[in-house]
Amino acid sequence: MTNKYNVAVFHGDGIGPEIMGPTVNILAKMSDASSDYDLTFIDAPAGAAHYAETGESLPESSMETARAADAILLSAMGLPDVRYDDGTEISPQIDLRKALTLFAGVRPVTVRKGQRTPLNMPQDKEIDFVLIRESTEGLFYTQGRGEVTKDEARETLLITRDISEKLFRFAFDLAHTRKKSGRGKGKVTCIDKANVFRAFAFFREMFDAEAAKHADLISDHAYVDATALWMVQKPWDFDVMVTENMFGDILSDLGAGLMGGLGLAPSADIGLEHAVFQPCHGSAPDIAGKGLANPFAMILSAAMMLDWLGIKHDNAAMRQDGTRLREAVEDVVASGDVLTRDLGGSASTKVAASAVLEAVIAK
Ligand code: ATP
Repeated sequence: MTNKYNVAVFHGDGIGPEIMGPTVNILAKMSDASSDYDLTFIDAPAGAAHYAETGESLPESSMETARAADAILLSAMGLPDVRYDDGTEISPQIDLRKALTLFAGVRPVTVRKGQRTPLNMPQDKEIDFVLIRESTEGLFYTQGRGEVTKDEARETLLITRDISEKLFRFAFDLAHTRKKSGRGKGKVTCIDKANVFRAFAFFREMFDAEAAKHADLISDHAYVDATALWMVQKPWDFDVMVTENMFGDILSDLGAGLMGGLGLAPSADIGLEHAVFQPCHGSAPDIAGKGLANPFAMILSAAMMLDWLGIKHDNAAMRQDGTRLREAVEDVVASGDVLTRDLGGSASTKVAASAVLEAVIAK
């Protein structure tokens, strides 16, 4: 039986469409070659350029396409010169996160042997951890609604039992899945500041309650400041890390730095029903239209989508293709022959994406 899945595609702004085009092409070729799944791509207009043209940043029809889809693939969005009247940036990705309750921001960080990294890595080490950033509350709860007077500014940090319990369940499930596939140590670390804030003691308490249900996994805690130090000193010790929204926002850029830059950093925003897969980087207007954009973060995000759909629908072929696509990117990066300018090479977006497609076919 063929399993059919609809993918909503947000092409984005700036370099967005340049990296989305080749990514959809690779996915379409993989889907065509498989008799176990069939992907259909449905374009969903949105973003800053769309707002400039039509006055709408996320039309209801695109929201409906996203809601009805089995998965959502989203490229970089936003342009510095296009803003709402109140001066804030156009970011439909944040609207989607809230509207679809995508509480788990998943940011994998991998550095394989041979891959460039600013760290001086011991030869026998590789980095392979996943940072999970809560994405609907925390210190982003009052985003755009903070109170500012002449003498004071206030924002509210919100931690709820409902979202935290879902978040920690997700983190432990992920650690199980990784351990089963031979990738992780089966460890979950709660990153907080429980020594200073009661809200984080509450956060930690709920983490410990979930940890108690998983005797086969290791659980531990770390303060966010120490975590920043250890992510530089011994990042290979981490497996699954789970944290509040703002802490996760900051640590995920540190993770991208370990990988040699944003061009290799994929992400997913996952809820109970829906999930959005997008690169961590922005729309890079400084290089848009020049063929210089690195497509790897977008392609790695697409690999995460195959993996997630495969797990959700118990489709082994999709999971295998997710792994195949991720490993194809890792092979191209490790060989160092076809890299875009941000990674020290001179390949164009198209050439880099073609190298991944060839590597996928060869696997
Ligand atoms: P945002 O706030 O939307 O995340 P930003 O201003 O922080 O955006 P980006 O748009 O991510 O930043 O760009 C930061 C720098 O990284 C720019 O110099 C950009 O050219 C570069 N960059 C980002 N993504 C890529 C990519 N895929 N390939 C090559 N360079 C990139």
